[in-house]
Amino acid sequence: MGKVTGFLEIEREEPRYEPASDRIRHFGEFTHPLSEGRVVDQAARCMDCGVPYCHGDTGCPVNNQIPDWNDLVYHGDWEEAARNLHSTNNFPEFTGRTCPAPCEEACTLNLEDEPVAIKTVEQAIADRAIRAGWIKPQVAERRTGKTVAIVGSGPAGMAAAQQLARVGHEVHVFEREPRAGGLMRYGIPDFKMEKQHIDFRIAQMEAEGVTFHYGQNIGVDRPLRDLRDNHDAVLLCGGSEHPRDAGCSGMELSGVHFAMPYLVQQNRRLGGESLGADQPITAAGKHVVVVGGGDTASDCIGTAFRQGAIAVTQIDIRPQPPEHEDKLTTWPDWAVKMRTSSSQAEGAIRQFSVGTLDVVGNNQGQATHVRCARVDRSRKAIPGTDFDIRADLVLIAIGFAHPVLDGMLDELGAKLDPRKNLYADTFSYKTSVEGVYAAGDMRRGQSLIVWAIREGRQAARSIDLDLMGVTDLPR
Ligand SMILES: Cc1cc2nc3c(=O)[nH]c(=O)nc-3n(C[C@H](O)[C@H](O)[C@H](O)COP(=O)(O)OP(=O)(O)OC[C@H]3O[C@@H](n4cnc5c(N)ncnc54)[C@H](O)[C@@H]3O)c2cc1C
Ligand code: SF4
Repeated sequence: MGKVTGFLEIEREEPRYEPASDRIRHFGEFTHPLSEGRVVDQAARCMDCGVPYCHGDTGCPVNNQIPDWNDLVYHGDWEEAARNLHSTNNFPEFTGRTCPAPCEEACTLNLEDEPVAIKTVEQAIADRAIRAGWIKPQVAERRTGKTVAIVGSGPAGMAAAQQLARVGHEVHVFEREPRAGGLMRYGIPDFKMEKQHIDFRIAQMEAEGVTFHYGQNIGVDRPLRDLRDNHDAVLLCGGSEHPRDAGCSGMELSGVHFAMPYLVQQNRRLGGESLGADQPITAAGKHVVVVGGGDTASDCIGTAFRQGAIAVTQIDIRPQPPEHEDKLTTWPDWAVKMRTSSSQAEGAIRQFSVGTLDVVGNNQGQATHVRCARVDRSRKAIPGTDFDIRADLVLIAIGFAHPVLDGMLDELGAKLDPRKNLYADTFSYKTSVEGVYAAGDMRRGQSLIVWAIREGRQAARSIDLDLMGVTDLPR
């Protein structure tokens, strides 16, 4: 819990960013971590609040025992704090960098507008544990003789693989791409999380006995049946990759792209991977319009600035949220309020309550403008409010509708939920096909890294229980 009176004495502090004018000159991470003493101060702000909503159902999806590790950090026992943190979260250095921190929304101190800087303390513990060499492979003492195949090496597949290998199963992860990490490697830019953090965990998992098979698009290059015939259980963690329909004309014009190919290309460039036959997409010297209001849109904005865009405008169909939430009606749940990502703060022009009507092009088929209109509360265009925004590059970042259904899921023929995600409940994680389980975005729809880690862990427990009759794995 930290220091009983800490919250009265110490102000909330978060790591500082490099100034925007400096950080857009490179693609790497740009936060200046707090010194050890200042992190201890932040942990000390965790008070004896009785009911710690931060790690309950409204807070951290992996139920990190936040007051416990705050207290350990406050008392200088960083190694025990790291052990505690890893007991609920396989990859806290991922969440410490990228999680939107619902725990902080749920923190009791947030009623006063200054929650404990939980995510900052989490990242500090995780990074220190890695630097100090406390993170070692945990090799199972006994082998069970059972084998599990996992499709997809995003955070859900990684968490499940690590949990299953640690209880002695032979684990094989099949991944379409040349490297592991899923959207953390190919979607999320380095400026939010550099890839060496993923590489570190993959090396740890390989030492724990997990075998990764890259370049294997299951259901396309190799039938899913192969995996089902040769393993005792199969877990599908293929993500939610089918983009939402933009619902406007002009999508065929040159210069109009979905966000993912754009972000994937930049990640491949930085990772030294070939772009193959794909035409390079770049924002250098261009007027860019990003359609959409979420994380992906922000990542497009930050990438465009780093590539040398002249101007970046973001179109969000939602109304501009209030500067401050109504805490008494929303706490401890996630609140709607004006949030500005580091990428938006780099100079994006933000337009709210605006819908995209068409992308307009010239005679050569190159996009030149986005035709927009103001929208009402039901998101319908208000007649007479049309206007144009100059755009040589238009990036559609309106999210993913459901998993890719062709290939693997077609072959499986399992039940889908009404949104076309692969159906499985959140206790057994079983699909409607015997021996096949599902977790992460493929099951729940597009979500967050921390939810993928939770589902991977819980699915691993269910599989272990089914294979062995008993399990020591936590839910
Ligand atoms: C641009 C972007 C930014 C984001 N930013 C954040 C953020 O800041 N914070 C946050 O918490 N979340 C963020 N998210 C969401 C987060 O990345 C996802 O919720 C999370 O990665 C889902 O994990 P997953 O393991 O379920 O799936 P994924 O990460 O999508 O991994 C699925 C893996 O399965 C592989 N695969 C799919 N089909 C097959 C097949 N048939 N055969 C073999 N392999 C296959 C894919 O190649 C991929 O590697 C972001 C998402 C995007 C797109
Ligand atoms: S994983 Fe996310 S929700 Fe959980 S403690 Fe860390 S920042 Fe908070």
